[in-house]
Amino acid sequence: MMKECKYIKEIIEKGTVEWPYRFFHQGLEMGRERCFRELEKSGLVGRGGAAFPTSKKWGSVWDTENVVLICNADEGEPGTFKDRYIMENNPAFLLESMLLSAFIVNARALYIYIRGEYTQAISLMKKEIDQADVVLDAYREKTGVKLEVEVVVGQGAYVCGDETSLINSIEGVRPNSRIKPPYPTQKGLFDAPTIVNNVETLCNLSLIIRDGGDFFSSLGVEGSRGTKLISLSGKIKNPGVYEIEMGKVSLREIIEELGGGIKGDHELKFVIPGGISTQLFVENEIDVMVDYCSLKQAGSALGSGAIIVADETVNAVEMAKNAADFFSKETCGICFPCKEGNRQIHNMLNKIYVFEGKREYLKLIREISETTSRAARCGLGQSAGNLLVSAIEKIPGDFTYYLPEIDLDRDEVKK
Ligand code: SF4
Repeated sequence: MMKECKYIKEIIEKGTVEWPYRFFHQGLEMGRERCFRELEKSGLVGRGGAAFPTSKKWGSVWDTENVVLICNADEGEPGTFKDRYIMENNPAFLLESMLLSAFIVNARALYIYIRGEYTQAISLMKKEIDQADVVLDAYREKTGVKLEVEVVVGQGAYVCGDETSLINSIEGVRPNSRIKPPYPTQKGLFDAPTIVNNVETLCNLSLIIRDGGDFFSSLGVEGSRGTKLISLSGKIKNPGVYEIEMGKVSLREIIEELGGGIKGDHELKFVIPGGISTQLFVENEIDVMVDYCSLKQAGSALGSGAIIVADETVNAVEMAKNAADFFSKETCGICFPCKEGNRQIHNMLNKIYVFEGKREYLKLIREISETTSRAARCGLGQSAGNLLVSAIEKIPGDFTYYLPEIDLDRDEVKK
């Protein structure tokens, strides 16, 4: 039986009570340069979904003053709850990881943007910050900077997962995605150079400082170093947050061994490996290893690590309709193809669902998804069609049921 690996989870579960803020103090003693060298050696990439090399992002503001660091805890992807798990179970660990990161990037201001629905996490993080005078004094003594730490409560827009939308939201304006360049590292919050990183990414910094960059990079595989927190949900016996070593565990092992297999007397139908912006896999595709490169090569993505499992009782058309409903409501509307494309796809899936669809709708959905993904400014529009199109291609029988006059074959839908 495969065992769950526990690096981040061990700290979260056991806490750092014996030596509060030990990673932060260790980082202060090492100094910025040494910490950054360890980060470079680690090969850490962002855990929010984009998998951008963290040292490259941080290196771009290395000699810059007035840097702002934002911890993105908006976690709006349906099926993702790992950041919530961290904040609710060990807010001190996240705060010290944020402070350690702020020290390395030489930040003068630190924000944490938390999803509004996470009321418990918001109150725990606020309480932790209120009690952090001693550690903030240590920061000031070492750097000469009186660091401002502020909690910002998100107002429920999925698009704020995009870093420039999130920045607009903190500035108090409509959270549309900005055109890049300039990138936030050049011109971000109130025009200051700004680093935005996900909760899990920053927590990895504590591990890197504790164990060293070489040890961190010995875990995982090329392009996917370290471990990954997975939010496992759906028709599974043991849903929850699990930690895996990337590239060493398959999707099937996660489902069968960590998740305990499919709930009840049912069979696996499909798996969404990285949240509802990613392409699904059917049963004979889930021996793929879980890391950024393997999932990409297999035609999907790891995203933020939200694995959603469906059994044969789940209707792919209904699931696609719900996803389209979500994206048509969450688009910020600034790019026409995303705004109108998601609305049209939603309308067509609704019609299909009540047996009023037409054969050409399936081809149209694919074409609109493709156009939207090319013309979209941010990740929402670029990936909104992934799940729907893969459902049509891989589970044609569910769609045939609603379009009984056609004999749907995969090749035709792909044209
Ligand atoms: S792709 Fe969609 S969500 Fe993103 S900026 Fe354009 S309209 Fe807004």
